[in-house]
Order: sequence, then C-alpha cells, then structure tokens
Amino acid sequence: MCGIIGYVGHRTSEVLQRGIKRLTYRGYDSWGFGFKNGNEIEVIKDIGDVENIGKLNINGNSNIGICHTRWATHGGVTKENAHPHTCCENKIAVVHNGIIENYRELKKELIERGHEFRSDTDTEVISHLIEESYKINDNFPEAVKDVVPKLRGCYAFVAVHKDFDGLVGIKNGSPLVVGIGNSNGGQSEYFIASDVIAFLEYTKKVIYLDDGEMAVVKCRCQ
Ligand code: GLU
Repeated sequence: MCGIIGYVGHRTSEVLQRGIKRLTYRGYDSWGFGFKNGNEIEVIKDIGDVENIGKLNINGNSNIGICHTRWATHGGVTKENAHPHTCCENKIAVVHNGIIENYRELKKELIERGHEFRSDTDTEVISHLIEESYKINDNFPEAVKDVVPKLRGCYAFVAVHKDFDGLVGIKNGSPLVVGIGNSNGGQSEYFIASDVIAFLEYTKKVIYLDDGEMAVVKCRCQ
C-alpha cells in the first residue's frame, strides 16, 4: 500500500510533484499522474525512480490532478500496471491504494459486457465500473458511490472524470485525508491524500475520513 495525492486548485503541477516525493518514504516501485487537461484526461506514468518526473513536461495549466506511488500487489511492476488506470474511453482515471479482493469476478463480468482491460491490476475494475454507472446516471459522484457496494477489500481511491470539475475520493480500510487550502484572492484549493505529509506545507486544515465516507472536492479556480 503506497501513496495517493489528489489536488484541485491553481498550482496542480507544483503540489503534485512536491507531494509525491514526500510520500516516497512509504516505498514504491512505480508512479503516475493523471490530469484533467481541458476536456481530456492526460496520464503520465512509469516504473522506477519518481525523481525522473523532473524531466517530464507536466501540463502547467491543469486545475485538477491525481498522482500515485505504487507498491504492486496484483500485476507485475510494469508501466501498464502503474496507476492511474483509465476506463475504455479514457474519460475516467483512478489511483488506488489497497486491494480489491473480488476483482477477478468483477473483471470477468466486465469483459463479458465488452470492457477492454489494459493492465493486470485489481485496480482497473474500479474505472470500468464507474464508467458503467456513469452511463446510467450521468453524475460522477453518484457513479462512484454506486460502485462502492460492489467492491470487497481494504482500499482507498481517488477518481477524476474529464467532464467533472473536481475529484471524488473513497476510503474503506486504507487511509485518506482531505486538506482544505487557504483561499487566496478567490482561488480555493483542496487536497486528498493517503497521508497529510503530502500537503502539510500548504495547509493544516485537515478532515480525516472514516471508513465508508466519500469526499467530493470541486474546483472554484479563476
Ligand atoms: N493493488 C493495487 C496494485 O497492485 C494497488 C497497490 C498499492 O496500494 O500501491 O496496483
């Protein structure tokens, strides 16, 4: 179980790049970022040393992003298995800590319903399940909520959708905390992470989620 950080605000690239490095103490084998970039989800991920992100061109204009350090439990240490994991249409991206115990049954059912998987992880079922729910109710937080009863295991995850101006996080057994940033000239910012250390340099206003609680943070950036 490694690290998650999500951010909504005016300095996404800075916060995520600094935050992910603060989570490396937990150990990891691969890393990844997902940004809502206009009306698209952009994913950058790789195996190995997260210090290498310094060489990547991360979009400086995105107001919404997620990132992850992975400690592989299901699926080898490969770029394809690094998080975030997207759905078939690349509209949704998910970063996850923990284990989805019933992922085999869920994956089999999803494949039978036509979903195409790109990784060997347990995590990827979450993105595809949200994709299905979203097609029914057209509401991202509700779609995430609908998926929770289908998952067994100990997990926390944060999800982003290309058409939703915010992030949704869920905790069940693995840690997840929300940080409320300082309003700065009308620009508010929010953080969701597996450890406050990821964002403590930006805010000390923290909400610890209980198991079964969901956090929805929305962008009010100018
Ligand atoms: N079970 C997931 C995987 O193997 C998440 C591992 C983690 O918590 O980093 O990708």
